[in-house]
Amino acid sequence: PRVRLAGVGSNIFTEMSALAVRYQAVNLAQGFPDAPGPSSVTDSAVRALHAGHHQYPPVPGLPSLRTAIADHQRDRYGIVLAPETEVVVTTGASEAIAAALLAFAGPGDEILTLEPYYDSYAAGAELAGARLVPVPLPGPDFRLAPELLRAAVTDRTRVLLLNNPHNPTGTVLNERELTEVARVAIDHDLVVISDEVYEHLVYDGRHRPIAMLPGMFERTVTIGSAGKTFSFTGWKVGWATGPADLVAGVLAVKQYLSFASGTPFQHAVADALRLPERHYTDLRDSLRARRDLLVEGLSALGLRPRAPEGTYFVLADVRALGAADGLEFCRELPRRYGVAAIPAQVFYADPQAGRHLVRFVFCKQENVLREALRRLAPLR
Ligand code: PMP
Ligand code: GLN
Repeated sequence: PRVRLAGVGSNIFTEMSALAVRYQAVNLAQGFPDAPGPSSVTDSAVRALHAGHHQYPPVPGLPSLRTAIADHQRDRYGIVLAPETEVVVTTGASEAIAAALLAFAGPGDEILTLEPYYDSYAAGAELAGARLVPVPLPGPDFRLAPELLRAAVTDRTRVLLLNNPHNPTGTVLNERELTEVARVAIDHDLVVISDEVYEHLVYDGRHRPIAMLPGMFERTVTIGSAGKTFSFTGWKVGWATGPADLVAGVLAVKQYLSFASGTPFQHAVADALRLPERHYTDLRDSLRARRDLLVEGLSALGLRPRAPEGTYFVLADVRALGAADGLEFCRELPRRYGVAAIPAQVFYADPQAGRHLVRFVFCKQENVLREALRRLAPLR
């Protein structure tokens, strides 16, 4: 039989997290925090359960949550949205990405994305029957190369799938880079799907949604996630916002993927989005300190990490350790050193291009990061 996604392969996060469990390794592979989000938000979820919110919510999401998402976009970015038509709640950002790709790309269409890219992008493109066209974000700085972006456009390009702040490089696009991306999207009349799940994890400067740029709102679906912003990755509450015609397209597909998304968690995330500013600054400050800890520690080991401006990922180069292949390195790391990481080659269409790169996460408690660095010390 024809098997979908056969070329995409098994999920690297599952593989490396399983190795971490088997060897009791510190899991710096999969991006999830090892401390829960705010207890007031957990209380909201418990209250929602006890209040009997057990049945299907409205397909596009609870009105209170859609309003909270609209307020979030307005208060932070000045983007004014109608909650009824311009916001849809999804089962994590993952579903929003898949639904948007299925809505706006089909057989014969091309989807541009910056490479390295998050693994679900290739899978989503394949499910849509479209072709993912990688646009290299050249290392070691991983800044946008506008000429490469322009060169990748053809008359079949329909969608530009952007991820900013960027997993796995940690790049946050600056104003000039955003303007370059916007110009390409406008010149070629592309739909932009902008995955901004790390919007609150920006350490130097501030996040700016590409939808804020002139001429961009009307062509952009912006995606967010409570998993990253509130440290509840297992709750799987995400959202997509944008102009009514594009959001309707996402909703039409979403209703036949999951129909609707978990009711009690939607109540809790509506409350979470009303947390005081301190939640966001505390999260940022604490992650910035942990970024510095991990980057300094990996540097001292000779791994040549790139200090990320955003996200909770650090890319490191294993060639300095005499290792040639990041995948082999990561398959050995849990057993030999008791630490797990992700080989960044899985984020490249041609693994060769990212063969020397390994991704570590720093969304773990400081003592856990210190323990990981202690275990890695023999690498020097
Ligand atoms: N996009 C990116 C870039 C991610 O790193 C993740 C992390 N899991 C997701 C989307 C998926 O988010 P969610 O867990 O909300 O589905
Ligand atoms: N987004 C997280 C990461 O990149 C988790 C991914 C996953 O487990 N699918 O590590």
